[in-house]
Amino acid sequence: MPTSLIDDLISVVGPEHVLTDPALIEPYATDWTRRWHGHAAAVVRPGSTQEVADVVRVCGNHRAPIIPQGGNTGLVAGGVPAANAHDSTVIVSTQRLRRCDPVDHIAGQVTVGAGLTLADVQHHVRDAGWEYGVDLAARDSATIGGTVATNAGGIRVIAHGMTRAQVTGMEAVLPDGSIISHLGGLPKDNTGYDLAALLTGSEGTLGIITAVRVRLHRPHAATSVVLIGIDTYDQGLDLLTTAINPGVSLLAAEIIDETGLRLAQEVGGLPAPLQGEHRLILLLEIADGASGEGFNPEVLADLDVVIATDVDNRARLWAYRELQSEAFSAHASRTRAGVAHKLDISIPLQHLAACAEELRTRMLDYPAVMAFGVFGHLGDGNIHVEISGPDADDEEVDKRVLSVVTTYGGSVSAEHGIGRAKTSWLPASRTAAEIAAMHAIKKALDPRGIMNPGALLPEEES
Ligand code: FAD
Repeated sequence: MPTSLIDDLISVVGPEHVLTDPALIEPYATDWTRRWHGHAAAVVRPGSTQEVADVVRVCGNHRAPIIPQGGNTGLVAGGVPAANAHDSTVIVSTQRLRRCDPVDHIAGQVTVGAGLTLADVQHHVRDAGWEYGVDLAARDSATIGGTVATNAGGIRVIAHGMTRAQVTGMEAVLPDGSIISHLGGLPKDNTGYDLAALLTGSEGTLGIITAVRVRLHRPHAATSVVLIGIDTYDQGLDLLTTAINPGVSLLAAEIIDETGLRLAQEVGGLPAPLQGEHRLILLLEIADGASGEGFNPEVLADLDVVIATDVDNRARLWAYRELQSEAFSAHASRTRAGVAHKLDISIPLQHLAACAEELRTRMLDYPAVMAFGVFGHLGDGNIHVEISGPDADDEEVDKRVLSVVTTYGGSVSAEHGIGRAKTSWLPASRTAAEIAAMHAIKKALDPRGIMNPGALLPEEES
């Protein structure tokens, strides 16, 4: 182990924040799905932006690769080192960056440290009478810095857009250790390149985000949730407009299939939510003052539905959707492979039904597949494909899914990013000229290639 690297890191953050015991490093070096494992010389936990900058300089001096990590809930292995990572790799955890400024009520914005969880930020702004526009099931662990670094989507995209649409300012440490800080949050500020937008979605390859300023939203009217049993994706898409009365805001439009419903019931010990059995379940949440009157009764009359208008029942209906990823992981843990394959795709809405049908056919005749299901954000054309049975390193099954997606003009990563898991698939969704531009940006900001090497862009070309 390169002792001087460790000594230099300790001199920046103190010995209690440099973990070198392999048993302590292990949870940081294994991803949430447990499909990807790597190794690192140390996990470092800086407590301030200046400490992050000093850590980056130390790593640069030692040519030690840096893996920025927030809550480690990423699903494409971007926040964990590769199995063949360099021995001096350092995981930089942002979890101690817990700045939490008071809400700026005039601007409708707030500045927070990268290490706060999404739930921390949601509670902080709700207490001040505001809403943050991003929400997802990993809210209790995912950090705000991680969600910005991945340009996370989630369940409110249909109402507020992706994370990039929320970011109004950023502080970050670049690969040379310099600090860029532009946290004024001016709505109008055409003074050169938008570096915050560039770092948003850069998956830790261009720098470490230490704080962000984000736009807030006025709280919605209290909401109602409906679960509707349906037969086809096209029926679901049609209901996004017909099931809701004019003038009522749609806040979420999620879908799960019959396999996912069954597995969620098993893992959560939940009863069947509807009277009948259906191929698909649509969940809609609307802002109608929690009256349930925002739904169109004529359209819902002939369908198998359940409506929730109070907080407990809304949570009860959401549970079937929020348990999906965990439910497929639990199923996979009982197979020989032990882990689920999780793919995150988006498809033009007009091709969603055909693409989903083809995926189903192609998965069910794949010999090792024991369970296959899809769930996700119907209104965004974004579905998560879950496969249990094939070995963790079975690339062929992923290839089957992603090649179907590209034939329908879809994206191989809707919201989870490229990470280390999908670098070879980047050309399926981006042109050679776009990828060359990305390499040029990477080389300009990180000429030594120390910031998250091997993530997003293939290492040998970066
Ligand atoms: P990590 O997993 O720690 O890191 C993710 C990437 O960001 C890595 O490349 C890492 O290097 C980089 N990174 C992290 N922090 C920083 C930083 N401060 N500066 C620079 N780079 C950094 N994602 C969605 O988009 N929508 C969903 O609906 C959704 N649902 C999920 C549900 C579950 C149950 C789970 C487990 C995950 C889900 N995810 C979803 C994926 C995941 O939660 C998001 O990608 C999230 O944004 C990752 O945040 P994190 O703090 O855990 O980042």
